[in-house]
Amino acid sequence: MIEQYIRDVHDFPKDGIVFKDITPLLQDPEGLNRSILGLAEAVDPDSYDVVCGIESRGFIFGTALAHHLGKGFIPIRKPGKLPWKTASETYELEYGTDTIEIHVDAVESGGRVLMVDDLLATGGTMEAGLKLVRRIGAVPVACCFVIELSFLNGRKLLGDVPAHSLMTV
Ligand code: AMP
Repeated sequence: MIEQYIRDVHDFPKDGIVFKDITPLLQDPEGLNRSILGLAEAVDPDSYDVVCGIESRGFIFGTALAHHLGKGFIPIRKPGKLPWKTASETYELEYGTDTIEIHVDAVESGGRVLMVDDLLATGGTMEAGLKLVRRIGAVPVACCFVIELSFLNGRKLLGDVPAHSLMTV
């Protein structure tokens, strides 16, 4: 159970939001270990070749998971951060839009990718991540999250890609 390590911070970053703070989880050796082992068990590691994480908290869990399994890690980043040729995807937020990018040669064609982020809310971020991975010719096999806000029904945006969460609110 990882619930005990997640701190609810009310009205952050703005009024009305209950922010799920993962820093108590990260700073506790048992909590960090449980979360990485949980992600490793959620999806058969033989079903994917590389782990892809979305900036920025997806980097923390995704990189640790990849290292734990002896796999490589692919970062999906905010615009203007990746130095090489990129594919980019813009998606809707509650107010305005956001964009994420991936290196066009990050995964070889047909490569099987496990997608990782810390939290599934509306699903817009991961939906854009799935589009990016497909755009560069790779195959997203599953999505993993530490936390899922199920009342926002983000799974509906992930199509037929299975989603796994260590903790559901
Ligand atoms: P969404 O695109 O709505 O699924 O939002 C997912 C992204 O926003 C993830 O990268 C999360 O880190 C972040 N996020 C959204 N809502 C929260 C929340 N209540 N607490 C912490 N992070 C959140």
